[in-house]
Amino acid sequence: MNVSDLSAVRRAVFLSTPALWEHGHGKQHPLKPERLRRTFELLEEYGAFAAPNVQVVAPLPATEDELALVHSPNYIEVVRILSEGGAWTETREYIQPMRYGFGPGDNPIFPEMYETESLKAGSSLTGAKLLVNGDCDVAFSYGGGMHHAMASYAAGFCVFNDPAVAIQWMVDQGLRVAYVDVDAHHGDGVEALFYDTDRVLTISLHQDGRTLFPGTGFVTDTGFGAGEGYAVNVPLLPETDDEMYLWAFNEIVPPLLERFAADVVVSQFGVDTHHKDPLAHLALTTVGHVALFEAFDALSPRWLAMGGGGYNLDVVARSWTLAFGVMSGQTFPDELPPAYRARYGGQWLRDHEMPTVRDAVRNFVGQRTREVVAEVKKIHKL
Ligand SMILES: [Zn+2]
Repeated sequence: MNVSDLSAVRRAVFLSTPALWEHGHGKQHPLKPERLRRTFELLEEYGAFAAPNVQVVAPLPATEDELALVHSPNYIEVVRILSEGGAWTETREYIQPMRYGFGPGDNPIFPEMYETESLKAGSSLTGAKLLVNGDCDVAFSYGGGMHHAMASYAAGFCVFNDPAVAIQWMVDQGLRVAYVDVDAHHGDGVEALFYDTDRVLTISLHQDGRTLFPGTGFVTDTGFGAGEGYAVNVPLLPETDDEMYLWAFNEIVPPLLERFAADVVVSQFGVDTHHKDPLAHLALTTVGHVALFEAFDALSPRWLAMGGGGYNLDVVARSWTLAFGVMSGQTFPDELPPAYRARYGGQWLRDHEMPTVRDAVRNFVGQRTREVVAEVKKIHKL
């Protein structure tokens, strides 16, 4: 049976529990828990969870030992104590939150932070375990994708690096794992945690670091030591649209995945690449997103997908609904369900409105995209 035969009958798990959206970074923060609640509601109102090949699984939080697969024990303790409102470690170290990336702005300390963030990590890890045990073929940890967290500090809204926890656990089971990050921001935390190993291939397509947080992810960043050649970066200019993005993706990602022969593909589906996203400047639509999801569907023998960025609530709910539709082999009607429309407005699941990019800009971005793709292909011998 080849992969395309499998895709029709794939057993799909959706990892969700209300505890994922009960606590958040605060009212003014862009990573609103409502992103998850709205996505869940939209899928539910489409009847997505009633399909015979679909199961909703409530994840368990990652344990301290599981978080320690990639995080330092000291950092895990610090997150727990800050979350409880404390300021001293058990060894009487006074915690300076800034030293661990916490403070007002991107990474505020909030009540139940430890429980919420370890649950996101546990969500991706639960997906990995179900896949490896053969209990499903695809799993969507839409609450995960916290790709900026580092071993010992929080960054870019991310406290625990759930993609890395899940990947390291699968590597420890003897699997080869390819991680493909299509968030608008560089997947710097995941890349850093596997920068020196050839057991994990990391690929990140993102808005050029000279124009966006975290400011990294250039074509010449390719890994270190045994990991040399196993980190791949594709920086793209602001205003890159569906056509250019998909062209770059198709030139680079399928041949790399074929060469690496991964047992599991892990994808981070940040949808802040959308032209209406308030934090980034790429120009994709849900049409481009669906083409990406379909590409992953065809490329992934076993597939663990995660959420990630995406700060336009309307876009996030629709795009991740489309993602789970592709993963579970379901096509939803374009007209949004009446109850969802009544609550949130909107009319269509798929974008009908396309971004307008001026010809001169498109020509310039297109030229630069071709140059970047050529550089990546040369560096990685494609
Ligand atoms: Zn992002």
